[in-house]
Amino acid sequence: MSSIGSRSRVRNAIRIIATITACAVCQQPIRGYHHVANTSFIASAPDSAPKFCHNCGEPYPWTARGLTAARELISESENLKPEEKEILSKSLDDLVRDTHGTQVAAIRFKKFVSKAGKETADALRKIIVDVASETAKKILFP
Ligand SMILES: [Zn+2]
Repeated sequence: MSSIGSRSRVRNAIRIIATITACAVCQQPIRGYHHVANTSFIASAPDSAPKFCHNCGEPYPWTARGLTAARELISESENLKPEEKEILSKSLDDLVRDTHGTQVAAIRFKKFVSKAGKETADALRKIIVDVASETAKKILFP
């Protein structure tokens, strides 16, 4: 590993802000970004967009934004108890990537989301369908 000079670091930062073609954390280029226009890629991730950095595992901005929106919806739900909100919020991390907890998270999500009220549930499903892993999607949207 060689250290990056400050000049190329600045250039890197500008490039990332301008187009988000690389991971903000480890600077690894995002795989497959060439296939889509940069602006639409930022506005909403196409199906082909990776959810996480293949190098360091950090969620990309569009994934992180979906998670943040989902957490906000959960925290504003009037029908869920505080502990249910916490469980639901935590299960999101296992929904977006395939882990050994994905199946449990998807089943929990299904259970709690139905208690959250129709509007919240619909909004949450819309977000989750974009960010959930294939395993989670099979359980949530059979
Ligand atoms: Zn990375």
